[in-house]
Amino acid sequence: MLDVGNVSVSYGMHRALSEVSIAVGQKEIVVILGANGAGKSTLLKSIAGMCEGSVAGRIALDGEDITTLEPHDIVDRGVAFVPEGRGIFGDLTVAENLLLGAYSQRARERQDANLSWIYSLFPKLTERRNQVARTMSGGEQQMVAIGRAMMADPKILMLDEPSLGLSPLLCKELFQSLAHISDAGMGVLLVEQNAKQSLAIADRGYLIENGEITGSGDAASLLNDPAVQAAYLGAG
Ligand code: ATP
Repeated sequence: MLDVGNVSVSYGMHRALSEVSIAVGQKEIVVILGANGAGKSTLLKSIAGMCEGSVAGRIALDGEDITTLEPHDIVDRGVAFVPEGRGIFGDLTVAENLLLGAYSQRARERQDANLSWIYSLFPKLTERRNQVARTMSGGEQQMVAIGRAMMADPKILMLDEPSLGLSPLLCKELFQSLAHISDAGMGVLLVEQNAKQSLAIADRGYLIENGEITGSGDAASLLNDPAVQAAYLGAG
């Protein structure tokens, strides 16, 4: 469904990504693991059309080239992005934030069904639908951000470190929600520091170091890989 082929990104003289190729299929959860500065956010931003650097290579959704489209066109085609730091509208209510996500024609047609689905997935948001978003906890705000991206009715949902700053219990709930989202047919592309919990729900993963893909495999084999354990799972 999503195919990233030989994507390289430079910020001026600095090459942040080199010939990166990854794929995400329908119903698949794919996790990108890498140290700080490895290029993970750059990869998601390039797919979302939001990268400030120069992007080379080909990014395609269902075979259609989306590499040079504007961010809103990429959302319209079916790729939604939850950036690190969430970026929700603090002065608007939960419900208003969610509705803002449904701005394309396709998303508006499915607005009511998607809203009910999101409220069933995150019951907390139902309780708090009229609360101003900035007064919500960090975990609740993360749910709002994910819900808003889902209101765009995407085929692929991309998330940049969604578990950052969440309590262990909220992390668990978040990853369970992502598993439900992919069961419903969406592809999920996830950048995470929390390797253990993200690999537990993922189908496949890629390792990225200094802007290059240095390993990949199904989630179970990555979890059991001694090099992955040493680098990302606190073992070794
Ligand atoms: P982190 O986990 O710390 O967010 P990351 O793996 O997401 O790291 P990126 O944010 O993609 O890494 O950064 C990759 C490299 O590109 C870093 O060396 C970073 O300093 C550089 N970089 C990122 N954004 C820009 C920018 N807008 N201008 C210049 N350099 C940038």
